[in-house]
Amino acid sequence: SRAFAGKKYIVLGLARTGYATVKSLIASGAHVTAWDNRSEARKMVEDIATLADPMEMDLAGYDALILSPGIALNTHPIVGRANAANVPILGDIELFAMARHELPPHRVVGITGTNGKSTTTALVHHILKNAAIPTRMGGNIGLPILGQDALPAGGVYVLELSSYQIDLTQNLACEFALLLNLTPDHLDRYDGFEGYSRSKRRLFEMQHSNGQAIFCGDDAISLKMAQDNYPDETQESKISAQKQIVYAVDIAHFDHSISINGPHNAQNISGAVAICRGLGLNDKVIEAGLKTYKGLPHRLEYIGEIDGVSYINDSKATNMASAAPALAAFHNVHWIIGGVAKDYDISAALPFMDHVKAIYTIGESGAEYHKMFSPHAKVEQCEMLIMAVERAASMAEKGDNILLSPACASFDQFRDFEARGECFKMAVRAISEQRDVNG
Ligand code: ADP
Repeated sequence: SRAFAGKKYIVLGLARTGYATVKSLIASGAHVTAWDNRSEARKMVEDIATLADPMEMDLAGYDALILSPGIALNTHPIVGRANAANVPILGDIELFAMARHELPPHRVVGITGTNGKSTTTALVHHILKNAAIPTRMGGNIGLPILGQDALPAGGVYVLELSSYQIDLTQNLACEFALLLNLTPDHLDRYDGFEGYSRSKRRLFEMQHSNGQAIFCGDDAISLKMAQDNYPDETQESKISAQKQIVYAVDIAHFDHSISINGPHNAQNISGAVAICRGLGLNDKVIEAGLKTYKGLPHRLEYIGEIDGVSYINDSKATNMASAAPALAAFHNVHWIIGGVAKDYDISAALPFMDHVKAIYTIGESGAEYHKMFSPHAKVEQCEMLIMAVERAASMAEKGDNILLSPACASFDQFRDFEARGECFKMAVRAISEQRDVNG
């Protein structure tokens, strides 16, 4: 993009997105200094960028510091240094926003919320693709948006935006912005729930008057965010400048052969429908997309059945608010839970204890969850995921469901939630092979 030519940027964090950012900035004629604590990551860009650690540089004179969303703005010392040197701190989505005016006419959809972002983003993208509308998906999902080819006129960019990404964005005016739901999460990086919800709210504050702000009427906090700003336009908030839509969770009039189900997916589907209607698609076209959508791996992913027992991989459930809908969706559940707990608030899960036959705990929070759930269910502490799967398989009877929905982050035992989900699938495969051998 011409917006970056001749500018001086520092890119800190060279995972997939950082790497794509460096390449794209350099292709645009910018000067780039890049850094990552991992030497393998630095090696990837050593031929194209200057390598230097911004913690040891004079930051004055740089146009921006581009941070990976994984870097905590509330604790990382680079933030204070950049502020002191008056260098704006941005993310790759803001670079996309800065270069938008050079693209052919297009629209941007931004999707946020505590849970369901990826599912909804992938669903909107799928419905559009199915309707032959040029579209790209990016942000917190798929390929880095800066590394992807621009769309022809009439295209739609569908972005999944975590609160961390919104924090690194200043001028992203989405034509459509959606807040699915909001429950306490990531509180280690924010000033309480207030700070977290303020972060999400900025997505709507950045919209222009031609934008549509879409809120889920069935989520108390999402609804409140809409009501707090409407219709009183004298409020400080800028959200009331654009058209607001509060959607009800209602998929009843769509054909029920939709492959993703459960009440939480009804919320996601309804959000996707609200966006697609806003984009001008009719319900027939939307329905055609809904019917061919396959869902994403690691989200209530059905793995298979062994001796009448079903195995479900919901490794992406990294908090209690996302594990609870999984419990709601099944009966006779053998529930595998544990890892790095965000907090020990189990209240969201308690209404579904009559769906649970037994709980198997793993990881660093295993002992604590064992203690907390013991008054409510049969609980076994298993430490390792493979042991938990084996144990659950030995206990389960025909018609039962073995569910990995850990309500925790994975990094005490796994690289990421994908690796945890793959480990679960491997353990299931091993059980299937064992049973085959034993007849
Ligand atoms: P995100 O990208 O926001 O993390 P995902 O679509 O990847 O969301 O789903 C993450 C987890 O949350 C999965 O375990 C999924 O089953 C659960 N989930 C998905 N949508 C919702 C929702 N609307 N409300 C609560 N939980 C949800």
